[in-house]
Amino acid sequence: MTVNGETRIIGIIGNPVRHTMSPAIHNYISEQLNKNMIYVPFEVTGDVAAAVKGAFELGIVGMNVTVPWKSEVIKSLVDIDDMAKRIGAVNTLVRNENGYKGYNTDILGLERELIEEGVSLEGENTLLVGAGGAARAAAFLCCKHNAKTLTIINRTVEKAEAIANDVREYVKEMGKDTEVITYSLADYKKLDKDNYIAFQCTKIGLKEDDGAAIEDDDFYKKVKVGVDLIYREGTKFQLDVKKAGGKSCTGMKMLIFQGVCAYELWNELTVSDEIISGVCEVVNGR
Ligand code: NAP
Repeated sequence: MTVNGETRIIGIIGNPVRHTMSPAIHNYISEQLNKNMIYVPFEVTGDVAAAVKGAFELGIVGMNVTVPWKSEVIKSLVDIDDMAKRIGAVNTLVRNENGYKGYNTDILGLERELIEEGVSLEGENTLLVGAGGAARAAAFLCCKHNAKTLTIINRTVEKAEAIANDVREYVKEMGKDTEVITYSLADYKKLDKDNYIAFQCTKIGLKEDDGAAIEDDDFYKKVKVGVDLIYREGTKFQLDVKKAGGKSCTGMKMLIFQGVCAYELWNELTVSDEIISGVCEVVNGR
């Protein structure tokens, strides 16, 4: 890649941000499309509003946003996509005349992963283990696609209830009929449905020696598809889903597709399947 006077900048703001795979994803796409665009990490430790204002003044085309700024950054936007507003978290900023519009491409990335995996949520019993930012996106996705039930279980049950309240409002407004249920993680034995499509949304599994939030064969017998948002392959959750005969997916495709969706928004184009396959090879080779 040659950097010259015409080079446009895209990037990511977060803290920490040095470990991110996003530059590898986006710079590969730019190279393949022959776009004079470079993606760089920006470690923002203090004032995210000042960072967003500075980015606009510097002509930055778009940015991803990661922990801890996904909610805080909303105050600095001139516009926000409806779903990102409902989720309460933005991970992509798209430049317009006056500032940036915020989107949540985590939900779009997860949606595309499920399409590619051939998993439909329509009429299904869906389950979220965890109730942080990523779980919020998964919760809205389940309701958007008319899941029959959405059960949210979390160590801190109040966080599950907060998401449940927000998605119930969405369900009502959109005329959908997903039933939304919450439990404390400790009460997982009370789960009374079968054939769950379960999303593992806790941080457990990031490290190789992590266990799983639930370690109980009887639980996994109720899971027909387990989608782990952790992108590492071989977590205990993934292994336990497979051991019980279910289909298991990692969060890798979600990660790649959330990046692809952001790139498409910044450049108003569609990234081809061939380039997406190349991105997968780049990321898997790291
Ligand atoms: P977050 O907002 O910090 O939420 C963390 C969740 O993990 C909470 O539900 C928390 O429960 C739970 N948790 C943490 N430690 C736990 C423990 N020891 N026992 C039980 N529960 C525990 O994080 P997030 O942004 O939602 O991210 C969650 C995971 O999703 C991360 O690992 C992240 O890498 C992954 N993710 C992947 C993608 C992708 O593209 N594949 C995108 C976004 C996120 P409490 O509420 O009780 O603390």
